[in-house]
Amino acid sequence: MSDADTLFERIIAREIPAEIVHETETTLAFRDINPQAKTHVLVVPKTRYRTVGELAAADPQLLADVLTTAEEVARLEGLTGSGYRVVFNTGDDAGQTVYHVHAHVLGGEQLGLFGR
Ligand code: IMP
Repeated sequence: MSDADTLFERIIAREIPAEIVHETETTLAFRDINPQAKTHVLVVPKTRYRTVGELAAADPQLLADVLTTAEEVARLEGLTGSGYRVVFNTGDDAGQTVYHVHAHVLGGEQLGLFGR
């Protein structure tokens, strides 16, 4: 496990600070430290899986919890009318840097297209 892997676990444990937006029994949502859109919130399961694929295979209910929390974050942030994007980066080519699965919730402005 690399240092980056432990980062989100330390946020979940409240060992390092984060701006928490929403919390459930199984998930935590907090603002991204380097926002890529006007609104940029990360949603993590409190149990660690490396990627969304591993999470889906091991615990589909927990993946559903992550997506339900993402929708709740969008509602709390006022994004449900204007639209928003939910992204799971998976692996190095996609730019995944923290191997504790997380959904990016992005919105609050017109977003660019996918890709490079
Ligand atoms: P990834 O590149 O899809 O793995 O996303 C990792 C995200 O974590 C990046 O968007 C980072 O800006 C974000 N990040 C890294 N460290 C922190 C932190 O301490 N608090 C909140 N977000 C962080």
